Order: sequence, then C-alpha cells, then structure tokens
Amino acid sequence: MTVLAVDIGGTKFAAAAVEADGAIRARAEVPLRGRDGAEEVLLEVVGRITGEVGADRLTGVGIGSAGPLDPRAGTVSPVNIPSWRDFPLVGAVERMLPGRPVRLAGDAQCMALGEWWLGLPEGRPSGAVLGVVVSTGVGGGLVLDGLPYLGPTGNAGHIGHIVADANGDRCPCGAVGCVETVASGPSMVRWARANGWTGDDAKALAGDADSGDAVARRAFRRAAGTLAAAVLTTSALFDLDHVVIGGGVAAAGAVLFDPLREAVEANAGLGFLRRLRVTPTSLGRDAGLLGAAALVLHRDTGPTETLVPERGAPGRVPSPG
Ligand SMILES: [Zn+2]
Repeated sequence: MTVLAVDIGGTKFAAAAVEADGAIRARAEVPLRGRDGAEEVLLEVVGRITGEVGADRLTGVGIGSAGPLDPRAGTVSPVNIPSWRDFPLVGAVERMLPGRPVRLAGDAQCMALGEWWLGLPEGRPSGAVLGVVVSTGVGGGLVLDGLPYLGPTGNAGHIGHIVADANGDRCPCGAVGCVETVASGPSMVRWARANGWTGDDAKALAGDADSGDAVARRAFRRAAGTLAAAVLTTSALFDLDHVVIGGGVAAAGAVLFDPLREAVEANAGLGFLRRLRVTPTSLGRDAGLLGAAALVLHRDTGPTETLVPERGAPGRVPSPG
C-alpha cells in the first residue's frame, strides 16, 4: 500500500509517496516564497509524485498543513499563505486523485504522529507524546495512547498559544503573553535586537549564540525557559512520556536544548514529571510527511477518531503502568 503524504508549511510545500512501513519512495519539495499561487505549487508537488510512482498506485492522501484549519470542513487558512483563507484543500486534492480517502491535520500534529510512529527511541514508553515545532511560530500536537488527539475542531495541541506571561506582549492571535510571543524565532530576534543584538534572523541568532554572544545566548535561554514551562504544564495535564521538538529554531541544537533540559529538570517537581524526556526530532523534516501518511495508512474515520494501531513493529502498543 502506498499513500501520498503532503506537508504544507508557510514557506514550502513537500510531498512524498510513503509505503505502509514508512519507506519513502518518491519525494518533491517546492518553495512557496515569492510565488503567488499556492494552488499551482500544490499541483506541482502532487504532479511530481504521481509522475514518478503513478497515480494508480496511491490509495489515499494524508495532509499536514500549517493552520488554522478545519479538518471537518476540509479547509485551511495558513497564516503565512494569505491567498488561502478557508481554502477547500481537501476538495482540491480529491479532484487531483478522485476516489481516494483524504485526511487532514495540523502540520505539528503530523510531526508528533510521525515521531511517535517511527522516530522515538526503541524501548521508550510512548503512551503520551507531545510534538513541538519551534519556527516562525510555535506549534504542537499530541499523541495520547497511540492516537493523535486532534480535538473536536481538529486544533488541539496549540502549545504556542497557551499563556506564558499574563502581562506579556500581545500575540498575533489577539491574546496576551502566549508562548509564541517569547519562543518563536521572530520573537527571539525581536527581543535580542531590543537588547543590543544587531543580526537579522533566528539563524544568525543561533550562530551567534553558538559562538558565545551573550545577548544571543540569553535570547535562547529565555525562549528555553518559556518552552520548558509550557512543556511541563502540558505534561502535568497529560502525563507525558516524551516531548519531541523540531522546526527551524530547534535546529540550533545545544544552545536551545541545554537550557531547555536544565529548566525542565529544575522545575519538574512531581515524580511523574521527572520521567519526561525532551529530545530533538530524529526524523527531521520527514516527521511531518510520515505523520501525514500515518493519518491515512492507519485507517481513520474522522478528526477525533483517527486510529493508529501500533508504532514500529506489531505488538509494541504501549499500555499504562
Ligand atoms: Zn497567541
């Protein structure tokens, strides 16, 4: 069985043909930046995959998209793709590949699902996993008891918009003090520049932090502290085993993960919180594609009833306790 996986981010579209065991047979990626028609880009990446493996072989389509989105209506309104507002993405893909089931979830939810399926270390308990994407925003997704938890509207897991500081900055979402106002790449850059750093973007900030620049390091430490608080809050609610962190800012590596793990360790008071493991994504950019594939490979019937029977080999479904 081969399915089409599509990963729609704010700056690029990716697609792949994925086998039932997670093997990727073909892939395509197209940057969106500077181009007008998101639909054209979608047609192009899907066309490249069907051209390579043959549309007839594809038995379903899983899509992870930047949000907000409405999986029930099959529409997406990615913040960074202004031409798509309530865009009927599922319908558009159904027209490209008629007769196949098409499943839609958030990009961070797909990342979490991909990591749960194929990325977490062997032998680790994995009944409750949070995936976090730290990038131009901060996204998240939950996999609970092996099922992606999408919530009634399909938007569960938005860790970037839980409140980190009730007296903090205004968030683009309209609320005040969201995690994203401290820990997203642009927020870190804004804070660093207000404190005397003169670089341009989060990548430069990571480079400077790595080289020992004091303000850049403080920017990462500040973001890490906020992420740690958000992760521990989520863990207190859901008894998490594992947090997997990916995204462009997370690619900075130790300058983020060292202070993040320190802060998690320092603030994990209760015993069950001290079990928590925080690791970088092990699947990198494939996590989202593999999670999107899992949405449809692992038979699902709707946004709240997605079934994912097992991670890795059969017989590894974790049970509580
Ligand atoms: Zn917000």
